[in-house]
Amino acid sequence: MKKIYIAETGKKIGEKVTAAGWVHARRDMGKIIFIDLRDSTGLLQVVFAPNNKDLLTQANALRPEFCVQIKGQINERPEKMRNPNMITGGVEMLAEELEILNESKTPPFELDKDTMSVGEELRLKYRYLDLRSERLHRNLLLRDRVVGFFREWLRGEGFIEVETPTLTKGTPEGAREFIVPSRIHSGKFYVLPQSPQQFKQLLMVAGVERYFQIARCYRDEDQRGDRQPEFTQLDLEMSFVEQEDILELNERMMIDMVKTITPDKRITTLPFPRIPYAEAIEKYGSDKPDLRQDKNDPNELAFCWIVDFPLFEKGDNGTLQAAHHPFCRPNPEDMELLDTDPLKVRGWTYDLVLNGYELSSGSIRIHQRELQDKIFRMLGLEEETINSRFGHLLEAFEYGAPPHGGMAPGIDRLVMLLAGEPNIREIIPFPKTGDARCPLMGAPSDLPPSRLKEANIAKDV
Ligand code: ASP
Repeated sequence: MKKIYIAETGKKIGEKVTAAGWVHARRDMGKIIFIDLRDSTGLLQVVFAPNNKDLLTQANALRPEFCVQIKGQINERPEKMRNPNMITGGVEMLAEELEILNESKTPPFELDKDTMSVGEELRLKYRYLDLRSERLHRNLLLRDRVVGFFREWLRGEGFIEVETPTLTKGTPEGAREFIVPSRIHSGKFYVLPQSPQQFKQLLMVAGVERYFQIARCYRDEDQRGDRQPEFTQLDLEMSFVEQEDILELNERMMIDMVKTITPDKRITTLPFPRIPYAEAIEKYGSDKPDLRQDKNDPNELAFCWIVDFPLFEKGDNGTLQAAHHPFCRPNPEDMELLDTDPLKVRGWTYDLVLNGYELSSGSIRIHQRELQDKIFRMLGLEEETINSRFGHLLEAFEYGAPPHGGMAPGIDRLVMLLAGEPNIREIIPFPKTGDARCPLMGAPSDLPPSRLKEANIAKDV
């Protein structure tokens, strides 16, 4: 099938071309039928003229979302008929041949209108149709461009992309993990990673120096607010760096991304303000202040850094908990307080905040066995637990682990804010409902008893 993309038809005036796609809308004007043909690049007006009776009869069968291929001549539209809002608004196709590739049932909701007001269950059950709508298609494209930008930019800075396992062992970052039973090792389980945290640190021990990954992260949490059980981070880690290096690199990357991908946006304050945690709480009552000057301006992006987070928080019964995760290095100036007043110890941890959302957390990590061991103990872990859960990491630190640190901007939130969407479900191609279901695939689902037995989580069938 030799077809051209609709976006290219503007350059084909006077030529005969074949386009293919879906019937977006149909308008009958007396004896003429107009359709808007849609492909992944845009819309094209196609005219079925009255002189070709057979073709007109064929066109009369067209309904919204029929999949068709049309051959015809691209003509300039008369001056009065031009549509500046369409990329192909200066041209139209005079149809000569029509082939219906596949008919379509009437979609459960209209795709030539914004689908925001359609019930979520229905939108997600028919997500493949929802994604045909203009806004969601635009969001897919934006997401692709943002991710593509980061990949290229980071490679230019000497980073390499490394994949890390998603069948692994737990790493404590504050959330419950999804567990996967092992068939081969009865009674044993893998977990899906909350983030590649330990692997990226091990990659630094492996000498990778600058790592990134577009990483899928999994958290089995009660669905509070706008959360998803799986989401995507731009996971980064660098060796031989201090906090300043990581902040500088990420700030430059975000500024370049905004300039390149969304040049209409305006960043409120440059360089990004840096606010110590204590000051943020005192001044804004929040560690994710929204510093926009005009909250009604869809093009304003107010980034800020929150720095100097406490290393620990008070847990139940006066125990200590890691405020971020247990691999963060204490600020060297506060090292002595570890033994005397641990809640006063500041971590070398930082958050990047955008328009009141936490976009990213990160830290300089501990890279020495003794200090990591001490922090685990302060967090109340017994020696046996430390060894069984983190022995591999502590051991790795004994082989010349370099100083390192990193962060992990959330791709979903970032694209949501760039797209001006109210929640991350609008920019995740196939999201789950608020109660963690996928109405399209019907997940989670039952499994036959034989499968459960095979996975060693049920007894005899
Ligand atoms: N792994 C951390 C997180 O998911 C990010 C980091 O510290 O780099 O929040």
